[in-house]
Amino acid sequence: MKHELPKLEYEYDALEPYIDAKTMEIHHSKHHQTYVDKLNKALEEYEELQKKTPEELVKDIDKIPEKIRMAVRNHGGGVINHNFFFDILKKDAKVRGNILMAIEKEFGGFDEFKKVFSESAMGVFGSGWAWLVLNEGEKLEIVKTANQDSPINIGKIPLLAIDLWEHAYYLRYQNRRADYVSAFFNVINWDKVNNNLVNGLKNDKNIRKA
Ligand code: MN
Repeated sequence: MKHELPKLEYEYDALEPYIDAKTMEIHHSKHHQTYVDKLNKALEEYEELQKKTPEELVKDIDKIPEKIRMAVRNHGGGVINHNFFFDILKKDAKVRGNILMAIEKEFGGFDEFKKVFSESAMGVFGSGWAWLVLNEGEKLEIVKTANQDSPINIGKIPLLAIDLWEHAYYLRYQNRRADYVSAFFNVINWDKVNNNLVNGLKNDKNIRKA
């Protein structure tokens, strides 16, 4: 079984002006595609591993043969993170429901959450991600990961993510990461984030690293 590039549920220009169409096109059709292709390439000679999902591969990264371990970590992680990221984007969606209540409870208000999440995103050095996750104590937490590492490796369930690789924003924002992070708050599909929370609480034990 080969891994495939998922189709987006929206057009490349759907997030304008916050994320421009050209960035979306290159990010999805080139960068995301390359993670998929390179994961497939790494697994070419490993028929058993081809049956596993990228999540299964990455969660048990120590069991992956050393020869392809780094490739699976980077490109498998790239597939997981981009599948996740592109799925939680939508322009001008409202935050509501359980996720809003959980954010207010954990951070003292939505604006406070926005502030600490943005600070965390600004604090990612080099290429990486900032995440809102459900942690081991079933509480919301903000974490950062480097490169294409996923929070599922450290026992966290991803709810929301911002891609902080320059390829995610450089065409429109160049070095102005703060403007990109600020704009990102206009393209979060909060109903999807809410689903991630509800499903995360429900399936907690299955999703977590054993
Ligand atoms: Mn990316």
